[in-house]
Amino acid sequence: MERKTSAIGRNKGSSVIFGGFLPASMLDWEGKISSVFFTAGCNFRCPYCHNPELVVGIESLIPFEWEDLYSHLKTRIGWLDGVVIGGGEPTIHSDLPFYLKEIKKLGYLIKLDTNGSNPLMLEEIIKEGLVDFVAIDLKTSFDHYRDATQNFSSAELIRKSVEIVLNSGIDHEFRTTAVPGIVDRQDVLNIAKEVKGASSYVLQQFNPKVTLSKELRSVEPYSEETLRSWVEEANEIVPTRLRGV
Ligand code: SF4
Repeated sequence: MERKTSAIGRNKGSSVIFGGFLPASMLDWEGKISSVFFTAGCNFRCPYCHNPELVVGIESLIPFEWEDLYSHLKTRIGWLDGVVIGGGEPTIHSDLPFYLKEIKKLGYLIKLDTNGSNPLMLEEIIKEGLVDFVAIDLKTSFDHYRDATQNFSSAELIRKSVEIVLNSGIDHEFRTTAVPGIVDRQDVLNIAKEVKGASSYVLQQFNPKVTLSKELRSVEPYSEETLRSWVEEANEIVPTRLRGV
């Protein structure tokens, strides 16, 4: 992540640490003006992660105080459409629902960006109406998830999250970053099959500029032509778009 954080204190007594904050963005939720809150900490270690400061060494982060984020939202009612909660991985924090409820009480729409590893929480917050849009990052084919995440191989949890979102009727997006060595054409088609029935699958171009693993910074991204051909094939299975080229 190339976004800057600033020092306004720690939210004591909560498992959620807000490690990043964008007051207003038109890029993180299509068609909406939203504030973006980034929670610190993640249960994956994707080598291509663009938010390394929210994944490793989070002890040295200077987090944002919840009270300040809340008053920001309070004073923007009627101006902002919603709030995007990303990370890190928001659903590793057991008290995430508390924050979602507080934001909802202010009347905001909420988009959750997740890696899909906590289907139990996902199901609960969808049932309670605490999110309006769910975006799940699908890293690669489910049979070699560990290659992409370095430490997580439970395809069943991811599959369950996909199923919950598809069956819920909630607005959604599934997306995959096309990282050479982790994702190839066959992976894209495998994932497209896993999300068949979805309204939107997005293939994202890999950006080697900021990555968790330094080795990936010298990796050449796939050409636009290659990605377009994969999107065309995947689009036969599920509505697929290309982003980031
Ligand atoms: S890219 Fe991977 S490591 Fe980075 S925040 Fe997302 S799930 Fe966690």
